[in-house]
Amino acid sequence: MSFTFTPPPQVTIPVVGSDQLFPVHRVYCVGRNYVEHAKEMGFTGREPPFFFMKPADAVLVVPQGSVGEMPYPPKTNDLHHEIEVVVAIGKRGRDIPAAEAEKYVWGYGLGLDMTRRDLQGESKKLGRPWDTGKGFDFSAPVGPLTPISKTGFLTTGEIHLNVNGAPRQKSDFSKLIWSVAETIEYLSGLFELQPGDLIFSGTPEGVAAVKRGDLMEGGFEGLGELRVKVV
Ligand code: MN
Repeated sequence: MSFTFTPPPQVTIPVVGSDQLFPVHRVYCVGRNYVEHAKEMGFTGREPPFFFMKPADAVLVVPQGSVGEMPYPPKTNDLHHEIEVVVAIGKRGRDIPAAEAEKYVWGYGLGLDMTRRDLQGESKKLGRPWDTGKGFDFSAPVGPLTPISKTGFLTTGEIHLNVNGAPRQKSDFSKLIWSVAETIEYLSGLFELQPGDLIFSGTPEGVAAVKRGDLMEGGFEGLGELRVKVV
């Protein structure tokens, strides 16, 4: 037996302070998970969490200290940044109670849930899936991962994104509508979580467009910086 063609390489994310690589399985994203972002998207209140996915090979790995280069995607005139804390899962599990969620977290990173907002808007209007707006190539830049042994189980911390040095997004991880523990409880009721899964935990307010040449710089206490240039 042989492959019909060379299988694609496993997507892997470097681990801070180590030569280990974290192999990516699936990429889950939580929608509208900060109150002020829900408001700017035209929603209010604590609706149940909802999820969408990006292909694992949409991850654009940005090694520590380097500037990632994200090609401006086709078929959009409104490419938006969404800075998010990414939760890396290290253990298989389903129907995980929130109180146990911490045991399934391998670590954390910073990520950008890049969005073709115009295509997403069209999909919303027509009641169609979000894949073209959310799951395109290079739509998920992610920085190196830090193990939970170094960060502890994160529930607070300032998250921000600057574009070309000017502040765009800023909030605190404690302002999540659905905490990471609650998110893991919900998500693991829908899908069996696997080691290698990534969960984009949601973006705070201030999402806006970027264009070719813009430099996005995100930060979160203890997770370092994520720097990505749109090319
Ligand atoms: Mn998002």
